[in-house]
This record gives sequence, C-alpha cells and structure tokens, in this order.
Amino acid sequence: MEQVTTIEEMRATVEKLRMAGKTIGFVPTMGALHEGHLELIRAAVADNDVTVCSIFVNPTQFNNSEDFRLYPRIEQEDAIKLESANCDILFLPQPDMMYPEAAKLKFSFGELESVMEGAHRPGHFNGVALIVSKLFNVVQPHKAYFGQKDLQQYAIIKQLVADLNFNLELVCYPIIREKDGLAMSSRNRRLTEKQREIAPQLYKALQLAEKMVKENARVEAIKSAVTDSLAQFPEIRLEYFEISDANTLQPISEPGVGQEIALCIAAFLGEIRLIDNIVVKEAKS
Ligand code: AMP
Repeated sequence: MEQVTTIEEMRATVEKLRMAGKTIGFVPTMGALHEGHLELIRAAVADNDVTVCSIFVNPTQFNNSEDFRLYPRIEQEDAIKLESANCDILFLPQPDMMYPEAAKLKFSFGELESVMEGAHRPGHFNGVALIVSKLFNVVQPHKAYFGQKDLQQYAIIKQLVADLNFNLELVCYPIIREKDGLAMSSRNRRLTEKQREIAPQLYKALQLAEKMVKENARVEAIKSAVTDSLAQFPEIRLEYFEISDANTLQPISEPGVGQEIALCIAAFLGEIRLIDNIVVKEAKS
C-alpha cells in the first residue's frame, strides 16, 4: 500500500490513474479503524480498480475540543489493517494542508441539519461538508463509500453532491456491530469496562422501538418506552431519541403506510458520546 502525505502528491497520483483509465473508490475516515471501516474498504476494493482511504481527524467538525484532543490516533495500526483489506493508497494529510487558513465558506443544509446531530452539535455538518468537499476535489473518486452509522451525515453528503454536481457515485453501507449489538465506533475504545458493558443497551432500546413500530404503536408510546428502558441505567445520559422519516430525517407524529422510518439515538456514557440507528422499512402495510 502506498502512503501519500501531501495534496500535491495525491493530485499527481489521481491524474496518472485517471489518465490510465482506472476507476477510483474512496473511503474517507478519521482513523482508529474497525470492521465498520474495513467493510467499506472491501466494498471499494471489489467495485473499483484502485481504493483510496483517507485518515484525517477533521478539526472543523468537532464542536467539543476535548473530544477532538482525545480522539484516538493510531495511524500505524490503521495502516496494517488497511494493507490486509487490500487498500491501495492511504492518504494522510495534515491539518495545515487541508486548512492553510480558516475557511470562510459556510454551508447551510436547511431542515436536513436542523434536527438530531445538526441540532446538538452546532457547526458539525459545516465542518463535514467542508472536509468532504475538499477531499472529493483532491481524490476525485468515481465512487465514495459511507456508513449508515452516520445516517444524517450521509443525507447531508447526498445533498452536497447533488447541489455541487460532484461527479461521483455515493454508496451507503449497513452498520457493522459487535457481537453484543453495539455499533462499532472509534470512540468505543474510550469506554471504561463498565461503560462498554452497558453500551449495547442503546441498540437494545432501538430494537424495542423497532418492534413497537412494526406493531403499529404510537410514536409517543415508543418514545416513552425507549426513555424508560434507558432510565434503568444511570450511566447512560440520553441526548435524543427520534422517530423520523428516513429520507427527510424530519420527526414524524405517526408512521404513514409504507414509510421508511429512521429510529435514531444519541447518548453519553460518561464523556463518550455514542450514536446509533435502525431504519425500519415498510413500517405499516
Ligand atoms: P469515521 O472514521 O467515524 O468518520 O467514519 C468513517 C466512515 O465509516 C463513515 O462513513 C462512517 O459512517 C463509517 N462507519 C463508522 N462506523 C461504522 C459502522 N459501525 N458500520 C458501518 N460504517 C461505519
């Protein structure tokens, strides 16, 4: 696997690949890679001639400076995992290259970002849209791979690609979980043993909600059941649980016939903030 550390070198590599008619698959990440990331890499390897993975802990998408400071950075371990998943190029830019000066451009995604992560992490999606645009412009992929784990992020990036005519195809992959159901996340490494033991309760609460949606329970009843189930665990501080239309991400008051519904949760275990979701297809028939 080749390691590229500058924008210039990445651009030159991309130009050569494109001149030779090669297709480029791209997986942007913030590192501390796990199976969730590696599934995206494997998918890119299967679909494209060349796979590029970027690792960049993007400062502009953090609204909490401690979270940014403590975000796991283990690039050598990551490189070994990427090699074994047959990734071709690892792009490792430095913050001063991606942001030689503070960007003045501001993104606004309207109601798509007025809920959930957008509402609770001011500026987060502006930072995401900024870095994803920069990386797309440098790497110029034919296909870019993202996880359903960050459902709202995917919706934002889909909008970004549509609005700015990025010439690429987006691919969204399902959430990869630990055996006990906990959604894999780079932040899981920061959980204490006790927190790690309790963390799968978030998925359990989502599964309870999924069951209730399928039984046509009312939205308010589902919300109370989720809140009550998590209230048994004082270590978990629920930030939000939303029942939303899976496409618009707007909260719904009652599921419609055949509507795809996203059940989305965010919670703190100590200082660690975790998110998860389940998309229920064909809630009512
Ligand atoms: P991150 O490094 O957290 O920015 O994530 C990089 C990409 O991996 C994003 O598209 C995430 O949605 C995706 N991802 C993270 N965790 C998972 C997971 N457990 N399953 C599937 N995709 C994931």
